[in-house]
Amino acid sequence: MLPEKLVSSLEGIEGFDKEAFEKVHASGEQITSIRINPFKNSEAQIPPSGVGGAVPWTEYGYYLAERPSFTFDPLFHAGCYYVQEASSMFIEQALKQTVDLSKPLKVLDLCAAPGGKSAHIQSLISEDSLLVSNEVIRSRVNILKDNIIKWGAGNVVVSNNDPKDFTKLENYFDVIVVDAPCSGSGLFRRDPEAINEWSENNVQLCSQRQQRIIADVFPALKKNGILIYCTCSYSKEEDEDICKWMMEELPVDNCRLAIDKIWNIIESSTGYRFWPDKVKGEGFFLACFKKTEGDDRIMKKTKQKVDSLNKNEIAVIKNWVKKKSARFIRYHDTVYAIAEKLSDEITFLSDHLQIVYKGVATGLIIRDKFIPDHALAMSHLLAETIPAIQLDYNMSIKYLQKKEIQTKADRTGWQLVQFNGHNLGWINVLPNRINNYYPKELRILKESE
Ligand code: SAM
Repeated sequence: MLPEKLVSSLEGIEGFDKEAFEKVHASGEQITSIRINPFKNSEAQIPPSGVGGAVPWTEYGYYLAERPSFTFDPLFHAGCYYVQEASSMFIEQALKQTVDLSKPLKVLDLCAAPGGKSAHIQSLISEDSLLVSNEVIRSRVNILKDNIIKWGAGNVVVSNNDPKDFTKLENYFDVIVVDAPCSGSGLFRRDPEAINEWSENNVQLCSQRQQRIIADVFPALKKNGILIYCTCSYSKEEDEDICKWMMEELPVDNCRLAIDKIWNIIESSTGYRFWPDKVKGEGFFLACFKKTEGDDRIMKKTKQKVDSLNKNEIAVIKNWVKKKSARFIRYHDTVYAIAEKLSDEITFLSDHLQIVYKGVATGLIIRDKFIPDHALAMSHLLAETIPAIQLDYNMSIKYLQKKEIQTKADRTGWQLVQFNGHNLGWINVLPNRINNYYPKELRILKESE
């Protein structure tokens, strides 16, 4: 049962149809959608249950006819796709229609864990652009980092900061996405237990927190920069009222987006509403704003001393990465590859933020030996010459469970294992056995589906 107070509070909001809304919640219908990774694109990406049509507001989203076991799909672990709610993929329209994505941009995804929108944004920005994917709650940062690594890009920094820490980066970002923590009513169909946690009081608390988050991060947006605000709440207090407050208190213009009528998205006074009885997706709200005052930041040179590699170490590592211009820096023994064009920005950010991941962790150099990192196997930076062994489905699952695997290897040493041509991770082939280097913390814990 939906909270009566929620339903009555929605009366009069654009697009709200009480009967249809209650019916769709009572139906028990579940929608499953995925968004493919264009960098790892191939036909093999779509999981076994097949495709149930494209999500209309994105190039990369598909509905699935039924929900497969993603845990037991090796391509899920290879980062070929991300399981994501369809409505929230609308962020693609917000970005495409308000910013020139071909330019080098600095984008902040402020409330990023577990990383769905960050991975999507990364697929849309250019290689020379930098995405700062931030999560304030420490216990949620690891899942964000793991998902960013799995996506395989090198132009992302993962940080663990409070919104007010970004005040130090005044006028820095071209785009800031605030996918705000909210009362969550938009996901009631998917997670009926959350209904019990809903209260009017929580809506008020969320609304105050949303204002605080926006006020804290706003100085970090440069003049003419775009702020994208979204929630998965139906409550006006967390949606249009926040937009109204922004327009009264902050120097912003509300941006309108062109939406195709057949999408059935409802345009409200300041944003876009997704009602589950009208779209094939869950409840969602999104609004865009352009900052009208402020400046362009001139980046000051950094004070940070970076631990660069010596000539011999660079020679070792160059056998493992594509011949792109990257700077290699050592941090806590691990060697990270940072795109040359982004390295000054990333060093600058390291001075101001609590960075937990940057670029691509390539591995460890111990004397003249290289121990590759799992992140390198997932990354586009990996050299194409690295030997790879194909595993069948059953052996892939064993590998992902971090069990002993048997396969024919015609050489010893570090090799990739692949399923359908997609990297799953590393093995080290010794004369008498194969060591499985799949990260322990990522392994599939279940025995079978
Ligand atoms: N953007 C994510 C995605 O697409 O996968 C989902 C983000 S979720 C709606 C909101 C996030 O805000 C959560 O990860 C939560 O931990 C974080 N959060 C909670 N309190 C916050 C605060 N005071 N400031 C900033 N973020 C907060």
